[in-house]
Amino acid sequence: MTALVIAEHDNQSIKGATLNTVTAALQAGGDVHVLVAGHNAGAAAAQAAQIAGVSKVIHADSEALAHGLAENVAAQVLAMAANYSHIVFPATAGGKNAAPRVAAKLDVAQISEISKVISADTFERPIYAGNAIATVQSADATKVITVRTTGFDAAAATGGSAAVETIAAQADSGKSAFVGSEIAKSDRPELTAAKIIVSGGRALGSSEKFNEVLTPLADKLGAALGASRAAVDAGYAPNDWQVGQTGKIVAPSLYVACGISGAIQHLAGMKDSKVIVAINKDPEAPIFSVADYGLEADLFVAVPELISQL
Ligand SMILES: Cc1cc2nc3c(=O)[nH]c(=O)nc-3n(C[C@H](O)[C@H](O)[C@H](O)COP(=O)(O)OP(=O)(O)OC[C@H]3O[C@@H](n4cnc5c(N)ncnc54)[C@H](O)[C@@H]3O)c2cc1C
Repeated sequence: MTALVIAEHDNQSIKGATLNTVTAALQAGGDVHVLVAGHNAGAAAAQAAQIAGVSKVIHADSEALAHGLAENVAAQVLAMAANYSHIVFPATAGGKNAAPRVAAKLDVAQISEISKVISADTFERPIYAGNAIATVQSADATKVITVRTTGFDAAAATGGSAAVETIAAQADSGKSAFVGSEIAKSDRPELTAAKIIVSGGRALGSSEKFNEVLTPLADKLGAALGASRAAVDAGYAPNDWQVGQTGKIVAPSLYVACGISGAIQHLAGMKDSKVIVAINKDPEAPIFSVADYGLEADLFVAVPELISQL
């Protein structure tokens, strides 16, 4: 039994989601190999070889794999799929794009967003926005899995010494082409990797207030900024800050929710945070039901006071 983890990387380095995915693959049992499909991605492959528990890194390099186009990544995985009992992707935008193509071509059911491994063929996954946990058992010969990364600890990034094997890259599928990317630059930690998140809701009232009130708190705490969907839809915060069922799933050590009611769709994205602090002026707000520390107060008074105490 051998699992193949599809690495998330930027050709230079391995992204954190890969480490959580390796942990899930190790729990499914057997050896764990990691595929680094990229372009000039030798550094990323060398980093993957350091991950504790990985017994082999397979490196496929070509221009067609430079940008993680799903069609080309899927073709690369399919070329080697016969060797593996489990093919495991992180449930990131990239993983969720490629995994279904692999599952469909193999004619197996994809097992999506697993949050726990019970055995090699049985997994838990949240359903109904995390309000119920389904236990699913797969009888398929190859398990094609995406991993909810917040459900698994990160494997140690160093300590391993896997061999790196270079294989021929598959030809460009020609079905899609990379046109360009606009990447927001920020000095803040990336939302899904942040240890502390300060998040704001509709109560902030404008993007000016959002920045004026929450940015100094995030700066003090070295935190990433997040937002509810209502705040994003109203234009107070950018789209990629949205936390929740249709946004990002996060599980930081500390999540500070300011003026967020705590709708189930928001809770679905953050309720696994280790410590949740809620500031809300409504004592009945559902966010208080998941908060470890709740402050019933006007955030425009409480947040500046909090900053002055830090
Ligand atoms: C299919 C679907 C998917 C969705 N996906 C998401 C998702 O991914 N993420 C998400 O967040 N939502 C999502 N939603 C929307 C969700 O249902 C809620 O509408 C949204 O989360 C509400 O955002 P909010 O808490 O900022 O706003 P509100 O619900 O309007 O809450 C504002 C809160 O601020 C408090 N408040 C007001 N003024 C102050 C003040 N001065 N000081 C302190 N507190 C104050 C109020 O008491 C209230 O609790 C989804 C909905 C659907 C139907």
